Amino acid sequence: MTGFDYDLFVIGAGSGGVRAARIAARHGAKVAIAEEFRVGGTCVIRGCVPKKLFVYASKFAEEFEDAVGFGWTSEKISFDWPTLVANKDKEIDRLNKAYIRNLTAAGAELIEERAVLSGPNTVSLASGRKITARCILVATGATPFVPRHLPGHELAITSNEAFHLEKLPTRIVIVGGGYIAVEFAGIFSGLGVETILVCRGEQILRGFDDDIRNHLAAEMKKKGIEIRTRADIARIEGSGTGVRVTLNDGTGFGANHIMFATGRIPNVTGLGLDSLGVDMTAHMAIKVDAYSQSSVPSIYAVGDVTNRVNLTPVAIREGHAFADTMFGGKDVKVDHSLVPTAVFSQPEIGTVGLTEEQARQGFRAVDIYKTSFRPMKHTLSGRDERMLMKLVVDGETDRVLGCHICGPDAGEMAQLLGIAVRLGAKKSDFDAALAVHPTAAEELVTMREKWTG
Ligand code: FAD
Ligand code: NDP
Repeated sequence: MTGFDYDLFVIGAGSGGVRAARIAARHGAKVAIAEEFRVGGTCVIRGCVPKKLFVYASKFAEEFEDAVGFGWTSEKISFDWPTLVANKDKEIDRLNKAYIRNLTAAGAELIEERAVLSGPNTVSLASGRKITARCILVATGATPFVPRHLPGHELAITSNEAFHLEKLPTRIVIVGGGYIAVEFAGIFSGLGVETILVCRGEQILRGFDDDIRNHLAAEMKKKGIEIRTRADIARIEGSGTGVRVTLNDGTGFGANHIMFATGRIPNVTGLGLDSLGVDMTAHMAIKVDAYSQSSVPSIYAVGDVTNRVNLTPVAIREGHAFADTMFGGKDVKVDHSLVPTAVFSQPEIGTVGLTEEQARQGFRAVDIYKTSFRPMKHTLSGRDERMLMKLVVDGETDRVLGCHICGPDAGEMAQLLGIAVRLGAKKSDFDAALAVHPTAAEELVTMREKWTG
């Protein structure tokens, strides 16, 4: 210690902040962490965890239908939204307590109030107390972006509110075509809500492989989700049942809710970054170097507030690397390439590496292997659903550049494919691996024919 109250002060107890605080404290640093809402952050409180629980809930309707083909009768089935919300809340409370326990057990001091920067080594708490620290880590995450120029935008909800609706809607309009929009479209539709997705782009999920985007959109439509592409909201008005939504082309719908899933913006408002001269990116994220250090040497930032790759495992890895480097005598940078990811849409997407389009831009020869098939379960369930798998291969070196899957358990597969692709696996390594039979994943090692279009 060098005359400061703490070695490290962390602002924000979400995925990145909690990991950094725990690891730094384990390395012997004197650590405090401030949280203004609930320890656990977006992922635990109103992101990944409650979302995945809702996804599980929403899949049962199809499971009950599918069971009939296997000899089961499923009568008198009903669903109770308040029970789901209450049970989800119970689980979030449990996790929130576990996060608090783990922080304290590691020796970090938790301060449950808002903190802002008031100097390069000083933070001010909402209570008025000032605290000094040798370094400050900003891990304040992000918040939903709502297009406030739209008339009636204040009538809309975001994912934050979707987790706490008192009643399950009968009809919902979801705006956006990214992760949250497609995941919540699947959740609401699975729970029996008439769901309309309004997406401004040509297709949902810009940035994902085109075959996967088209496949998912087609499967979502089969499930009854109405997808309106190249569509923008013109205005929202209140109505007896909730809202009346008008699109730019003049068409409109009534619904109980309209939900904006139009991206997230870094949580930097009022943090005091501008007065300290902290450099920001064009998207108002904190600009950091490979060690998560900002332009002010004592101020660091990790996670969504830096808008690098906005996923929980990335925030955690950044927080861990920061703590190991600052307090553990190591030199750890985070590699942001080859981040495997899943979209918990229905069906699910799992992906790692380059899309076909990206590969064709960067490589002279690209080979594509792809297969689309009916998952075995649906031979008896009768469900009209197909699974798509695609490998993008460097035609010169045979290295697998990207793997893209849309279908059941795609996220689980992406985790393991992430290892293979990171190790630089070649297509011939995939071919040499023995299949696990009968699985869907075996298709990944049995595709032999190059796709010729
Ligand atoms: P956060 O987890 O957001 O934590 C920031 C914390 O800082 C918050 O608790 C906030 O209250 C607190 N805070 C902010 N300002 C202050 C202040 N001034 N003083 C004190 N405290 C402050 N990612 C995945 O990898 N997989 C998923 O399945 C997934 N699903 C998601 C679903 C939804 C609906 C959403 C919204 C996100 C999802 N994400 C998912 C993204 C993931 O949640 C984020 O990338 C991750 O939580 C970022 O962690 P973080 O530490 O940067 O910020
Ligand atoms: P995304 O960035 O994924 O998608 C935002 C969507 O909103 C895009 O389709 C975008 O269109 C559209 N959009 C943006 N602005 C407007 C506007 N003014 N009017 C209409 N449409 C607009 O953000 P999300 O909110 O879905 O999720 C935020 C992030 O959280 C994700 O990017 C991801 O990093 C993380 N996340 C991860 C999950 C997971 O790992 N499974 C799940 C949920 C979130 P366009 O493409 O044209 O820009």
